[in-house]
Amino acid sequence: MQCPKCSKQARRSENATCTECGYAFGLDPREPHGLTDLDLLKLAHQASSGGRHHFTQNLLYVCYCMERVPMKALWPVAAVLGGVLGYQLMGSRAAVMGAAAAAGLVYHGTKSWRPPPPSVLDDVYDQMSAAGHRLPRFISRPLFEFRDEDKYVDHLPRAIDVDNVIVVDRNGLVDWLVLNDLPRSLNALVISQSGYPNYVLPIAIDLLNLRKSIGIYLLHDSTQSSLAMRKQLADSGLLPTAGHRMFNLGIEPDQVTYMKHLDPIQPSRTRFRIPLDSIPFPILERALYTSIKRAVPLLTGFAAAGWVGREG
Ligand SMILES: [Zn+2]
Repeated sequence: MQCPKCSKQARRSENATCTECGYAFGLDPREPHGLTDLDLLKLAHQASSGGRHHFTQNLLYVCYCMERVPMKALWPVAAVLGGVLGYQLMGSRAAVMGAAAAAGLVYHGTKSWRPPPPSVLDDVYDQMSAAGHRLPRFISRPLFEFRDEDKYVDHLPRAIDVDNVIVVDRNGLVDWLVLNDLPRSLNALVISQSGYPNYVLPIAIDLLNLRKSIGIYLLHDSTQSSLAMRKQLADSGLLPTAGHRMFNLGIEPDQVTYMKHLDPIQPSRTRFRIPLDSIPFPILERALYTSIKRAVPLLTGFAAAGWVGREG
């Protein structure tokens, strides 16, 4: 296998090091994930848009499946090869049968392909860490990084600039969005519906009481709980919502049906329930910008960012 350190096609020694340079391999490609260290680093590079954005396992999984989904377009190639082989072996009459059989096999193979479960990647990060390697920008698990007040401060917009409050349904989404600097790029405070991080909550309440022009936006996984989220937020009294425009951005299962980029993970198998952080951050950021700026559904924002096949 190719070594990520010396780039040579090296053998893996008995103690899982590169026979050329001594690099300690973290992953064993004979495991169900089938990944080498270099494969994983390439996936991470893709998921982080070349090292620029923080990402979680959910996007890593999408990239992983994209690499693995068989190419449906291969069946004409198979047909030609099958035809040639049939002709060589048994003459012109067998050529047609060979072509049909090969094309059929490939087509059937691609049709019946199913992505492995997301849990296939559960241990890869820990295995890399144990060998002393990091995946740049990877958020390995909900960090609750921003319990520590000093950290969010670097990402907060100035109070005078705050135009929006974005409420998400999971604390982990706060970490992902704030690490990627969404608060500053959208002039927004990002908090979860359970009030995390708790020192941003009073800032949000003060600003909402002060300025009715600040919009409240709900953002969540596609769990069909969005209606509940709106009601929960109103019932919980977490924020002074009266008099503010409140907009449910999504994502909703029926928005996911339009996201052809997610085809490799076959979202229909989970009835289009997918986590929000399956979407690359720059795509989500552009979609949110369009959606909030123009007061249009998030799906329209995704269309503008080139992420869906057509507008819903
Ligand atoms: Zn090496």
